[in-house]
Amino acid sequence: MTTKQKALFIIFGGTGDLAQRKLYPSLFNLYKKGFLNENFAVIGTARRPWSNDHYQDVVRNSISGMEDTAQQANEFASHFYYQSHNVTDTNHYVTLFELAQKLDEKYQIGGNRLFYLAMSPHFFGTICEHLRSQNIVTANGYNRVIVEKPFGHDLASAIQLNDDICKFFPEEDVFRIDHYLGKEMIQNIAAVRFGNNLFKALWNNRYIDNIQITLSEALGVEERAGYYETSGCLRDMVQNHILQIVALLTMNAPVTFSDVDIRQEKISALKALQVYTPQEVKENFVRGQYTQGNGQVGYRQENQVAKDSVTETFVAGKLHVNSMSFAGVPIYVRSGKRLATKGTRIDVVFKNMPNNIFDCGQILPNVLTFNVDPIPAMSLRLNSKAVSQEGYGIEDNTLTYTHDNALRAQTPEAYEKLLLDALKGDATNFTHWQEVYYSWRFVDAIRQAWDQEKIDVETFPNYECGSMGPKAAFDLLAKDGNHWEFDPCHEG
Ligand code: NAD
Repeated sequence: MTTKQKALFIIFGGTGDLAQRKLYPSLFNLYKKGFLNENFAVIGTARRPWSNDHYQDVVRNSISGMEDTAQQANEFASHFYYQSHNVTDTNHYVTLFELAQKLDEKYQIGGNRLFYLAMSPHFFGTICEHLRSQNIVTANGYNRVIVEKPFGHDLASAIQLNDDICKFFPEEDVFRIDHYLGKEMIQNIAAVRFGNNLFKALWNNRYIDNIQITLSEALGVEERAGYYETSGCLRDMVQNHILQIVALLTMNAPVTFSDVDIRQEKISALKALQVYTPQEVKENFVRGQYTQGNGQVGYRQENQVAKDSVTETFVAGKLHVNSMSFAGVPIYVRSGKRLATKGTRIDVVFKNMPNNIFDCGQILPNVLTFNVDPIPAMSLRLNSKAVSQEGYGIEDNTLTYTHDNALRAQTPEAYEKLLLDALKGDATNFTHWQEVYYSWRFVDAIRQAWDQEKIDVETFPNYECGSMGPKAAFDLLAKDGNHWEFDPCHEG
């Protein structure tokens, strides 16, 4: 059902990349579908001295090609207002207050406000403080704050950032974006796990042998090298996206399918992550950096990267979730840049049959695969009889369900889904503070161990562009008698 939403968006960082590439197109889709209608307005703020007309041109540009008619795009853009605003200048909030009141009245919004902080987390505290002190929060509607990653760069800074926000906004009004949680196939994990008795029965350490999660990027650092040098793959991908996926795969069933119950179970799953000692980090985690190959330059040759940088552009690891259901099941994860292909994939590998009664044919373990990107699909590998005139052969076959072009065309983009959830106040697919806390607790132990350990300059950088990472990432599984199910370099 399309429920019309009433809201005033105040976007801090309205001229930025995120706003133009993700937020305006997502808002436009919600507008086209009727979720946003007459009763919405957007105030874009940033330091540049833009006029409303220029801002509306920028918005029209960012949705170019998506509109049915020029009039539709113009009507949409007419809801956008620009305010030149330095977030550290109190006077600018006085003007913002007045504009917000005026637009609330003009569009009959009823006091509902979404504050989207699409800028450096460094400013979150001061923005939240001013929103309260300058009365930009309302008494008659909701006041929600949406924040972007990164949420801190370690546990201590995340605690500080959270305190800075939560002094002014309660946890239930803080929506921490992890856009992976807006992806269809990530949301599908709960449907498959909690909607099928088959998997409910098998989803534990008696039947699951191991789980494998790959977030693979074909691109390098592009223009984000400055940020990436201070972050690295562990903070950029593991702390948030990968651990969120681990939580969804290993959490217990929530009592109801509501944000409170789901997030409670995710918190417990992340709390159950074994925090490694430095020795365990050595045994369970691998870091890598890309070197030139396949026509691409190495990481150290990228702009804004130090010539002797030891920043990791690749991470592989083996995680242990010490819960009743998952103790003893290795969760292998990996992510990296300049890998063989772009793709996000999850393989749940079940234990093999205890005994093979067939004398002609190998029995392979069943594998349930979620292909998240680029083409959403799900598959299940089964052993079955090979068609034959005589004899009885076994072969593996895969049942596959793929989102076809028509379905993919209808699928909302992650940001669109998440923005609508935030408008409705549904926090299911946003990260609770305690999830962030336990994720950083786990990641900090690895980061600290790595920072203490001297990297062998002879062997780092250690993987070629276009490969699937360093050899050690394959050895990590091989020493357990396992292998990556997703191996694009060796697929036929
Ligand atoms: P950006 O540099 O393109 O934009 C930053 C915005 O902040 C600009 O509008 C700039 O004018 C504004 N700004 C900076 N200082 C200001 C000040 N003192 N007062 C007022 N405005 C000020 O950055 P971005 O790529 O849009 O990213 C914004 C945030 O979102 C960052 O924290 C980033 O890590 C996060 N993020 C971005 C993406 C993405 O796809 N771009 C994805 C995930 C997370």
